[in-house]
Amino acid sequence: MTEHTKTDGLPAMEGVAAPQVLERSRPRNERMASDKIECNACPVLCQIAQGRAGACDRYANSGGELVRVDPVVLLRRTVGEDGGQVVPFLPGTGADSGASWDGDLLLAEDVFVTGVGSSTTYPDYKPAPFIVGSQHEGVDVVTVVTEGIFSYCSFKVKIDTDRYLGPEQANVRCKGEVVGHVTTAEYGSQMLSLGGVHHLTGGSKKEGRVTVEMMEALGNKRAVELTIDGGSQIIIQAGRAPIVNGVEEQRMRVGCGSATIGIFAKQLFGRVDEVVVVDDHITGVLSEHQAGRCLDMPPSGIQMRGRKSTPGRYFQVANPGTGWGGTDIADPLSIIEGWDAGVARPGMRLLMTSTTGEHASWYVLDERLQPVEQQMPADVQAIVDRIGENCEPSLATVLFLGGAGGSLRAGVTENPVLLTRSIKQALVNVTCGGAPAYVWPGGGITVMADVLRMPDNSFGTVPTPAIVAPIEFSMRLSDFKELGGHVGSVRPIAEVLRTGAWHNDGAPTARRVLHRAPANPWPLGRGPLLG
Ligand code: SF4
Repeated sequence: MTEHTKTDGLPAMEGVAAPQVLERSRPRNERMASDKIECNACPVLCQIAQGRAGACDRYANSGGELVRVDPVVLLRRTVGEDGGQVVPFLPGTGADSGASWDGDLLLAEDVFVTGVGSSTTYPDYKPAPFIVGSQHEGVDVVTVVTEGIFSYCSFKVKIDTDRYLGPEQANVRCKGEVVGHVTTAEYGSQMLSLGGVHHLTGGSKKEGRVTVEMMEALGNKRAVELTIDGGSQIIIQAGRAPIVNGVEEQRMRVGCGSATIGIFAKQLFGRVDEVVVVDDHITGVLSEHQAGRCLDMPPSGIQMRGRKSTPGRYFQVANPGTGWGGTDIADPLSIIEGWDAGVARPGMRLLMTSTTGEHASWYVLDERLQPVEQQMPADVQAIVDRIGENCEPSLATVLFLGGAGGSLRAGVTENPVLLTRSIKQALVNVTCGGAPAYVWPGGGITVMADVLRMPDNSFGTVPTPAIVAPIEFSMRLSDFKELGGHVGSVRPIAEVLRTGAWHNDGAPTARRVLHRAPANPWPLGRGPLLG
């Protein structure tokens, strides 16, 4: 350092050589066969022979060149004739290519490049494989596209059923390995948390492998079979009815027992002397319930089992199970303790139903105040049918939840926190395979997307083990520059359609254009789904 150089206490910068950035590192094993390539796209560093694929089946050695074997998926905004076709990119990449593109230039304005099949940014010292420049409503926009490698990721599964799946916190197993747990139930639905870093990397190798396979299948909309400790055996698939202990679920309950009483009280009034809606959560009793009181119903003298919560609302009338209303009972009368002889009278009419109307029985009290089952009157049956009509179809919903606040941000900018801040400032939209992604509040970029809104086969795996999932960041070009984006790697969409990624180290060699899912908003020109 010369005495005239001011460095504010930092070491002198002069003479610091710029790093030599190789497209791919030198092979770790110098004795690697000359016809092999070392793949740098994840930490496994497969050495891939000519004509073979790596351990994840996503990259291959094609004539001495590392290629991403799947086509990159593009979404087209408008309906066209070319959906699903795989179109090879022209040889050469980016500005190197002298070939002219004879494609439909109009297509370029209507196309969004997704992360599906795009290849990855790993090891995160280089720009993302696709940084696409296009126009949206006259504004220059940029989309940074990559396949993220997620160790911190899980699936939150909502299963619309009252049937007992297992106790809260119970282990969920796949092929005998623990892959998740039962979490807090929501209204009308049981919830599972599956996958996650603890099972991927915190247990045995087998646990990690089974977990990642289960997650890939679930994310790619395939069925998975799970067992819950102390509970049920289930088969779940995104967008399909769950199968619990071999029985396909049909209906999601209209509400809890108390809510069902409230909704249908007026319709039942005058047709019954008592109604019990059996529910594992809250069993409702009409004459005692506030809805019955408002209708000025006289007491029936019914005496219920379970723990009385508030008038006409009972907890724990039975054990949870797969019988009436998510309880373990097959005989609804088993939850009635008896009848107050001073209040009840022979001939009283009692309806017992579950919260879905799937189970319903009609009784009349005999001389000994014993309920005797009889044919249900048609007008009461019509109300039970209406309870069923108001139940929505039972579905399993699968949400991918991943942490994108780590190193993949380096594919966007050299100063990653600026990307995080820009998302929180609603300047950058985040999508997963073009599907809207909810961004959780607080630190990091924790995103959540419905797998049904993503293209088929969006998810892959690597043996570390981790999940590979598409992610795209879209913003104005001016905001991209502002956050220190890799401006030099922006390629116009027309050029991307012609030649693909900006690099040729593990890049896809073809594109497949799909039509945007009608429920998904066009990703460009909008802010993120911020929490
Ligand atoms: S597992 Fe796949 S991504 Fe990872 S190094 Fe091997 S081929 Fe490349």
